[in-house]
Amino acid sequence: MKIYLNGKLISKEKAHISVFDHGLLYGDGVFEGIRTYDGLIFRLKEHIDRLYKSADAIKLNIPMTKIKMIEAIIKTLKANKLKDSYIRLVITRGVGDLGLDPRKCSKPTIFIITDKIALYPKEFYQKGLEIVTAPTRRNYPPALDPRIKSLNYLNNILAKLDAIKAGTDEAIMLTYNDYVAECTGDNIFIVKDGELLTPPVEVGALEGITRDAVISIAKNIDMPVYEKMLKMEDVYAATEVFLTGTAAEIIPVVKIDKRQIGDGKPGTITLKLMGEFRKLTKVDGVRY
Ligand code: PMP
Repeated sequence: MKIYLNGKLISKEKAHISVFDHGLLYGDGVFEGIRTYDGLIFRLKEHIDRLYKSADAIKLNIPMTKIKMIEAIIKTLKANKLKDSYIRLVITRGVGDLGLDPRKCSKPTIFIITDKIALYPKEFYQKGLEIVTAPTRRNYPPALDPRIKSLNYLNNILAKLDAIKAGTDEAIMLTYNDYVAECTGDNIFIVKDGELLTPPVEVGALEGITRDAVISIAKNIDMPVYEKMLKMEDVYAATEVFLTGTAAEIIPVVKIDKRQIGDGKPGTITLKLMGEFRKLTKVDGVRY
């Protein structure tokens, strides 16, 4: 496997970064997770834009144009002869000293890993997922805005541990004041009275690329879709619930905190959106 590291393609075994890299010491950096489908990089422009926005938010100047970044991704994909893959694009503050001061880091570290995609088992898509509400709250946006896709994922990992403790694979994270934010690595949608609802990202959620794709699909097929502040009562009372994310795509949820959602099976609106999303992955992206 070839890894792109600071301008060079090198073997996985030789792709090392310094123990003084602030990405490692402090989680000081940003990243993206991108998917390719049969030689098409899904919504690449949107991922690149979000990466540069995240970097801007932490005042990290990526020393590479967006076009050069796209070229580096394509070069890495081609070197690994991958058609269906998961791309992990990481920019750290770079090598510094043991203090926090980002000014001590003269050059960001850039690396790109392209690998086979690890998926949820097929039966989760057919039967639906069971999840829980995490006791761990989502980061308070004025402290660390969840819209920044930073290398600081401890908040999400703590909630993932909550999910694992409860014997499930995902968990809903609430805001400090009890609104639904998102899951540990996915956004959340509910269907209520025939309307598709998802929390606004301002409450404290990542503006998911898959979330945006689902909203645009819904609008295209005249399905009412709104951003709305949601409480757990709304989620429990929903007829359908599903999660969205680059790796998960659209995954139905049929049980939350041991309560059955709807009739306990993936709902018709969810299934319709899954079908439409599949079509979109065949056309919406950059060919390489
Ligand atoms: N929320 C969080 C916290 C995430 O890490 C992700 C990405 N895995 C998502 C939502 C979904 O975003 P996207 O659809 O862009 O993958």
